[in-house]
Amino acid sequence: GRKTVVITGASSGIGLQTAKAMSADKGWHVIMAVRSYSKAARAAEEIGMEPGTYTIMNLDLASLSSVRDFVNQLRLLGRPIDAIVCNAAVWYPRDTAPRLTVDGFEEAVGTNHLGHFLLCNLLLGDLPEGDGRVVFIGTETANDGLAGLIPPVADLGKLEGMAAGMKSTIDGGKFEPTKAYKDSKVCNAIVMREMNKRYGKSRGLIVNAMFPGCIAESPLFRQKRAWFRWLFPKFQKAITKQFVPEEVAGQRVANVVADEELGVGGTYWKWNAQAGKDFTRVAFDQQKQAAANLVKIPAEALDEMISEAVWDLSSALVGLG
Ligand code: NDP
Repeated sequence: GRKTVVITGASSGIGLQTAKAMSADKGWHVIMAVRSYSKAARAAEEIGMEPGTYTIMNLDLASLSSVRDFVNQLRLLGRPIDAIVCNAAVWYPRDTAPRLTVDGFEEAVGTNHLGHFLLCNLLLGDLPEGDGRVVFIGTETANDGLAGLIPPVADLGKLEGMAAGMKSTIDGGKFEPTKAYKDSKVCNAIVMREMNKRYGKSRGLIVNAMFPGCIAESPLFRQKRAWFRWLFPKFQKAITKQFVPEEVAGQRVANVVADEELGVGGTYWKWNAQAGKDFTRVAFDQQKQAAANLVKIPAEALDEMISEAVWDLSSALVGLG
């Protein structure tokens, strides 16, 4: 039978293209975990996904009870899972004050980080021993290196705001929406590392992150002004050469999920457009040698103290153990 992958936010953009690539190219069954069933059903049909190769299920990552309901429903489905792709994310670049999830968390961190954190922790035991995969979709702009220098820069501080209930910012400073998005992505990198540390050897779980390239035309940019949405893809194509069509991004994610050679736990993958290589692997001990165009994992994700504190505080916030 087909292996099964859960993909969050599979109703649009990279998640939808990943769903298609997983079912068509890799021959897997896809659980499209989405907040709008009808939107996903329409999207899957329009993109030409083969009926019977996917199941659409409701999951609202901005609600802890929805995450728990999803896990229960998934188990009732009786289809064991092999992999989870943490793809869904929100970014509200024009907000001036934090939006809150139903549980009272700032929404970018609440959705992109805490929702996925609970989901993965609840499903860890459902992944096959020795062969389970978890993949986080990261962004270059939250990493160390050139792209990460563009303000506002990600900074978790001493986790003051997270310790105080995650009602606004992680570091307890002033709210800035793009910083909130980047901070949430640093948390994804931290969880990737910690999960690998905790369950890589003990359960044979393979946890990766990957930067798919800049998909400058995806709905992620819906809140940006029209001129930006017109100019940005052109800039990414001509200047940074990081532009990647949604479909190619989906194929890259599918490769990280399914290809044996990319199943190296704890690795943050990036496709290196300029060097003409298929991908670049940056292992942690290579950090210092990494050139500017390679993925530089956020320093905070390399810091054991901060990483463990993020794990523990997040566990408490989502009501785990
Ligand atoms: P989209 O906005 O198209 O995709 C985001 C998806 O997340 C949507 O399907 C959305 O659902 C879903 N989502 C949002 N909130 C929730 C929620 N509460 N519960 C469940 N699902 C939710 O953007 P992209 O495809 O570009 O982004 C996908 C990933 O790629 C993100 O993690 C992003 O950070 C990352 N990324 C994107 C880059 C780019 O250039 N576009 C670059 C680097 C990383 P709905 O359809 O209902 O809105």
